[in-house]
Amino acid sequence: MKTKHRATATLTYVPFAEAPLYWECPVCGNLSGALVMADANTPCPRCGTAGVERRSFPNERLGHLDERIRKYHAESEWEIVVILGATFLETLLEDMLDRIMGAHGADVAVRSMVLDNVRAVGQRIGRLFPQLTGEEFEAAALEMGFRDFPKRWRRIREVRNAFIHDTQYREEIEALDAATALRTMELMDQAYSLFVSMNNKFVADGQRVRGAVQRP
Ligand SMILES: [Zn+2]
Repeated sequence: MKTKHRATATLTYVPFAEAPLYWECPVCGNLSGALVMADANTPCPRCGTAGVERRSFPNERLGHLDERIRKYHAESEWEIVVILGATFLETLLEDMLDRIMGAHGADVAVRSMVLDNVRAVGQRIGRLFPQLTGEEFEAAALEMGFRDFPKRWRRIREVRNAFIHDTQYREEIEALDAATALRTMELMDQAYSLFVSMNNKFVADGQRVRGAVQRP
C-alpha cells in the first residue's frame, strides 16, 4: 500500500522537455543559467571576466545521454530510464568531484587516481565529497533546498542495483515501473540545479583564480 500511495503522489510530476543549459566561466568555473551569459561580452557575475568564450554545461556527452533518457521516458521504456538515469546522476557526480579537485589544484593524474580508487558511488558521496568540500553531501543538499535528494537518489540506486545484479528481492525488481521512472526523471531535473549550486559553492569559490590548493 505504501508503494502505491507514493506512486500516485509522484505521478503528477512533468519532466523538463529538455536539459537546462548553463554557461561556464572558464576563469572561475562559475555556472550560470542566464541566457545573457552565452554572450562572452557579458561579465561573469562571479569574477567579472568578460571577452572569454564560455563553455556550455551540460557538455555534449552528458547532454546526449540526457536527451536519450528523455526519449526513452516518452516511449515508456521504464527500465531503461531508471538504469540510464542512475548512470546519468553518477556521471554528473563524477564530473563535479573532478571539477572540485581541479579547481583546487589537483592535476589530471591525481584526479583520475582518486576517482579510480573510490569507484563506489556510496563512497564517493559519503567519503570523498566530505573530504574534498568539508561538508556532508546531505548537508550541502539541504542547504541548497534539496533535502530529500540524497535519500531519493539512494532509493533509485537500490532499485537499479537489484535489477542489474538479478537479486532475489522481487519487490525491488517490481519497482522498475512508471512511477520509479518518473521519480528518476524528477531527480535528473533537480540534479542540474543542485549540482550547479554545488559547483558554484565548491568550484567557483575564488580559489581557482589564484590556483591555490589550501582550503580556508
Ligand atoms: Zn568567472
